[in-house]
Amino acid sequence: MPIIVLTDQLASQIAAGEVVERPASVVKELIENAIDAGAKTINVDIRGGGRELVQVADNGYGIGGGEVETAFLRHATSKLESAEDLKSIRTLGFRGEALAAIAAVSRVTAVSRSVDESAGTRLTLEGGKLTSKEIVGAPQGTVIAVANLFYNVPARLKFLKSVTTEKRLIDEYVTRYALAYPGIRFRLTHDNRITFQSIGGNLLDVLTAVYGPDTAKQLLVLRAQGRTSSDETEEKATTPSSDMPATIEVSGYVAPPDLNWSNRNQITLYVNGRWIKDNRLTYAVIQAYHTLLPVGRFPLAVVFMSMPPEMVDVNVHPAKTEVRFRQANAVFGAIQRTVRQTLISDSPIPHATHFSSITDPALFASGDQKGHVQTGDPIDTSELDLKWNTELSTGFGAEGDSIESPQMTDSAGKLPIMRVVGQVGASYIITEGPEGLYLIDQHAAHERVLYEKFMSAWEENGTQEGMVSQGLVSGIAVQLSPSQATILGDQLELMERIGFQIEPFGPNTFMVRSVPAMLTKLDPARSVQEVVEDLERGDAPLQSRIESRIILRVCKSAAVKAGQTLSRQEMEAMVRQLEGCRNPHTCPHGRPTLIHLSATQLAREFGRK
Ligand code: ADP
Ligand code: MG
Repeated sequence: MPIIVLTDQLASQIAAGEVVERPASVVKELIENAIDAGAKTINVDIRGGGRELVQVADNGYGIGGGEVETAFLRHATSKLESAEDLKSIRTLGFRGEALAAIAAVSRVTAVSRSVDESAGTRLTLEGGKLTSKEIVGAPQGTVIAVANLFYNVPARLKFLKSVTTEKRLIDEYVTRYALAYPGIRFRLTHDNRITFQSIGGNLLDVLTAVYGPDTAKQLLVLRAQGRTSSDETEEKATTPSSDMPATIEVSGYVAPPDLNWSNRNQITLYVNGRWIKDNRLTYAVIQAYHTLLPVGRFPLAVVFMSMPPEMVDVNVHPAKTEVRFRQANAVFGAIQRTVRQTLISDSPIPHATHFSSITDPALFASGDQKGHVQTGDPIDTSELDLKWNTELSTGFGAEGDSIESPQMTDSAGKLPIMRVVGQVGASYIITEGPEGLYLIDQHAAHERVLYEKFMSAWEENGTQEGMVSQGLVSGIAVQLSPSQATILGDQLELMERIGFQIEPFGPNTFMVRSVPAMLTKLDPARSVQEVVEDLERGDAPLQSRIESRIILRVCKSAAVKAGQTLSRQEMEAMVRQLEGCRNPHTCPHGRPTLIHLSATQLAREFGRK
């Protein structure tokens, strides 16, 4: 092939490959521009998950009539004059690439009026080409509307995820910037419905808008050691402690250990007002919770670092979400120390975890739709659960995601009739069968039992009828984050078929009216939250997989946990039911339910043969 110079338009499409990956990247770049322009109000309107339209309107200082066109040229920026400036970036943008890159792959309408002009300018561009320009009346500020993203680059369209996923990513950007700039009023709409709003107040107001009042009021102000509670103002909290380099300041909020999540998505980090992704610093936060959190659970943290701009290189990644620190270890230490000190001095004394034994053996009797009584902590605490929880959080395995056909695995064989010997470690049941000794994992086994019950009821009732569902005496309200609310909002119908009757009840709030019968003894709000957290993990699965994911979660939530002492009757009921399962050897996620030590093996181990 001959070597040719790329046309400008082609060149900007290549750049777009880096900066504009998906609708959320457009949202991010436009919000950053609005913040750089000193906006006090930023309205983000989305249609069709951003494919149809992303519009960001701000009341910042605007773009002068003579410059609007220039703003859409590649490498046109007002934020950088020399290479020297690159060493100490104080604005969110600096490459002058975003508007050009966005315009190259969409149809853009831009209206802007600068502070010192009386009329605005309206531009339209198609695939980066100017199609119209006129003088219009407009309020001060800038409105950029990006329609039909990737209309001229169909290959990129293919890489977009479902509308739900794209919406969720957009929600994530908007809420994250709202947290970083609490003084700015953000409003986000999806298809004309307001899904998030911040009032332009302090950080706690935004935390409340994002995480709900119940969570927000429990959060702890990050502060360094040696401060008294009277110092507990936000301003004081940003003061670095004397033993960390004076130039790195850490502030923000963290959740007390007993408020925890199943993934690390709730750890948000900022450097000088820029949301960054940094695995190492995320780990610094997690490390600060060492031994304070149940295994496989993660904290919520909103951590702001501020340091002289020379100490951080933002010119590393096209999307500017990854940065390089000049003193990476000092930053790690500052975060870890501040979070740890806050937790140790401020978090409430954790409740002694106590597992009460199950007192109602009828719960295990066959034909009963109910789950077990669980009065203790609903969090799994066994090592084993940790392992498989981490497996889950790295993405559901293929077999874990699909609803298995029980008949298919019948060849694995039925279990023999077993005699219960006892329980070890409050986690495993020991039984004896004609072929030797069996160790049964009580949680995995119960999950299997519940799963088969659920599936046979499901098949019997037919999917149209839905699952056996237990109404709650009074509805229970659940507050979710905006992105979680989007996920749940999209699955209400499916949830209903599985036995959850849930209605929208105000912004990001839902009213739970009934739950699947096997969950009636558990906290309904927690059960719903666990389902949503599972759905939130990783990419949005196919609809059919969402169904199985929810069913698997329901069974897992309802199953007896490791660490619970079982009575002999309960163990016997469990073993009888496992014997009756069509596929008793694994839990529905594919983990073994039992380990067999044959008589021959035993004899060999003892040197009898
Ligand atoms: P960058 O932000 O890296 O400078 P962009 O392509 O995002 O590059 O924007 C180009 C220029 O257009 C900016 O430097 C700024 O001067 C102007 N601009 C873009 N968006 C806005 C806005 N919302 N308000 C005011 N000026 C803006
Ligand atoms: Mg920009």
